[in-house]
Amino acid sequence: MLTSIASSVQALNPKPSEKTFARALILWYRKQDRKLPWRERFAATGDPFAVWVSEIMLQQTTIQAVLPAYARFFETFPDIVALAKAEEEEVRLACRGLGYYRRFRFLHQAAQELVRRDPKGHAWPKDFKTWRELPGIGDYTAAAISSIAFGYAKGVVDGNVERVLCRLLDLRVVVDASWKRSFQKVVDALIDPEAPGDFNQAFMELGQTVCTKQNPDCSRCPLHKVCQAAQNQSQHLAPQPKPPMAFEDVSLHLWILEHKGKIGLATRHDEARFLKGSLGFPTAHEGKRGRFTWDSEVTCEPSPMILGPFRHSITKHKIEAKVHLYKLSKPLPELEWTPHEEVETRLLANLDRKAWKLYEKHRTRLDPQLLA
Ligand code: SF4
Repeated sequence: MLTSIASSVQALNPKPSEKTFARALILWYRKQDRKLPWRERFAATGDPFAVWVSEIMLQQTTIQAVLPAYARFFETFPDIVALAKAEEEEVRLACRGLGYYRRFRFLHQAAQELVRRDPKGHAWPKDFKTWRELPGIGDYTAAAISSIAFGYAKGVVDGNVERVLCRLLDLRVVVDASWKRSFQKVVDALIDPEAPGDFNQAFMELGQTVCTKQNPDCSRCPLHKVCQAAQNQSQHLAPQPKPPMAFEDVSLHLWILEHKGKIGLATRHDEARFLKGSLGFPTAHEGKRGRFTWDSEVTCEPSPMILGPFRHSITKHKIEAKVHLYKLSKPLPELEWTPHEEVETRLLANLDRKAWKLYEKHRTRLDPQLLA
């Protein structure tokens, strides 16, 4: 596989000394001059924190969803020192609505670690390997941050880059882990060591805006001349779609516990099946023979008053969730007792928000005796 890719890369970049391929891509990217707040912030301040936060927020999240959260985050935490000093609750609030909360816990922990090394927050890792050692930083994120913020020549491979490469080389294949490893080698061979950040952003942006999944706009593409799929009119065949995901049905139970107008929230532990580290309602996963596995330290009895079920999806899981209601005479000390009116802003996960909406909808009709 690699031998054929290597010869194809040679075809893409016939004179490596002139960096033909990279130059065409970078020129196109600079001409687009797409305004995104993280690019503008980094250009204005040179602060790697601006790049780091954007790369974490953009994981599995659309640019549209990240835009307001990014602005809100920097109003609260203008730099790494401010983030390192923050309480976890403040970080939760600043990142609300983005989901996958664990990534922000890692961001917070990594900021604390870097500020421990230098209280002024100047102990930045500068290369791929040292970024990779921080909590919550995988290959893609380490390559993106080290190349964009520190000019380290390591290629990024995301879904956009994979699609562009498949079309450039007319690879009519399903991209699996082995192809991803090959693509990493290809991108590392093509990257311009003098402008690795622009090269990486250009490659991703080309996939996002021109070489899109449906209807790639080849007439606007700077790589049109070397694209084998465009020459063969086979853009729709490369890459091949992944086989449909096999969904798994899951039964979850959530408890809305009330005590004197306050609602008990629990932090899901790191072994929780879903939404690790998020603050939400005590939750249990129902296994075989009705056995419950709990997502936090709190365990509850099934309630005679149940709302739902409602449906929710998380990755390849189709969830059917039931909401149990209890009014407690004594508060459980392991829960965070939150005034009713603040619950909605503290909930980060859509699963909890849906449960809360259901509760709010039926609240006025619920018989207080049943809740007692
Ligand atoms: S020429 Fe078309 S198919 Fe080829 S990389 Fe460009 S946009 Fe994609």
